[in-house]
Amino acid sequence: MSIEASTTFTVLDAETMPAIFQGRRGPEAGGCYLYGRHFNPTVYVLGRQIAALEGAEAGYCTASGMSAIAATILQLCDAGDHVVASNAMYGGSFVLLNEFLPVKTGLCVSFVDATDLQAVAAAFTDKTRVLYVESMSNPTLRVADIPKLAEVAHARGAALVVDNTFCPLVVSPIQLGADVVVHSLTKFINGASDVIAGAVCGSSAFVTSLMDLHQGALMLLGPTMDPRIAYSVSMRLPHLGLRMTEHGRRAELFATRLAESGHPVVYPGLESHPDHQLLEHIGNQAYGAGGIFTLDLGSGAAANAFMEKLQNEQRFGLMAVSLGYFESLFSCSASSTSSELSAEQQERAGILPGLVRISVGYTGSVEQRWEQLAGALAAVRG
Ligand code: PLP
Repeated sequence: MSIEASTTFTVLDAETMPAIFQGRRGPEAGGCYLYGRHFNPTVYVLGRQIAALEGAEAGYCTASGMSAIAATILQLCDAGDHVVASNAMYGGSFVLLNEFLPVKTGLCVSFVDATDLQAVAAAFTDKTRVLYVESMSNPTLRVADIPKLAEVAHARGAALVVDNTFCPLVVSPIQLGADVVVHSLTKFINGASDVIAGAVCGSSAFVTSLMDLHQGALMLLGPTMDPRIAYSVSMRLPHLGLRMTEHGRRAELFATRLAESGHPVVYPGLESHPDHQLLEHIGNQAYGAGGIFTLDLGSGAAANAFMEKLQNEQRFGLMAVSLGYFESLFSCSASSTSSELSAEQQERAGILPGLVRISVGYTGSVEQRWEQLAGALAAVRG
């Protein structure tokens, strides 16, 4: 893969230029490129790789996960349209849908418990264009029943959009009936916590529409990925499968041991998890059940004490937001990545004040890390 740094591309015949502007020539038709905010060859290749990963017809990359989500919603909805969304999702996505887009565009959004299919269906109106969920919700780790949600959305003429940030390779939403998959590549896919990036995957027609010169949300809002970043992310894709498997293997082992000792741990790979069977049914077993588990410490103060022990004394990992890094990352969701939700909204989403989300890394030996984790727990629990 080469890095094509140019922001503009020469044409040899003057007549090619209008054909590119009219969409008759492009990356797929004659290998023509126009301008770096439209399509860039390196970013285009990464988009195709992410699409292949998801089993989607097409894909394109963006400067962040948030821009991928915002562009997708704006592309699918017009002013006054309606979105049905899960009430359990990343805080930034929640406020985008709950506050920013309604104020700026007149979009109406109804939040529902996405595990209750009747509630989801009942929330639709004749203006609903999108059903929006996370494949595994941040931070509550509820698994979306994508085949059934797709049925509900399609029966009412809406598109199912799935944020698959928590579950690359583990769940393949497009294969299960979703129309669009969005990603924060910042997390597991890049895996090194050194890049902010996003992606949108879907039909060729949808990805092309995002680049429309008159109505394309990516083309006109311009959250463009730098080709050097595209190259760097692309170089990490070959070991994504190995990484997801090891994140998942360790998360499952730690969660199993914590559950055996009676700790309130949530992990979809545990039989006690309400969506365990669903994930076994819709997930790609070879990649495990994801690299994240949560532990309820009972209060914000206890969560803080636990995280300080984990990082400052035991050196288990790092107290930081984000996930999918090679080191373990942990944060108290209620006071960090879900703090945009009010106490009531957090309660509705099932986010407890003492819930610590742990993204399990793969450095160090498993037993060394387990001792550190158990040591921090013993120190705060006695
Ligand atoms: N989706 C999920 C599930 C996330 O957890 C995040 C970020 O934390 C995002 C989207 C936003 O991604 P980015 O930070 O790359 O914009």
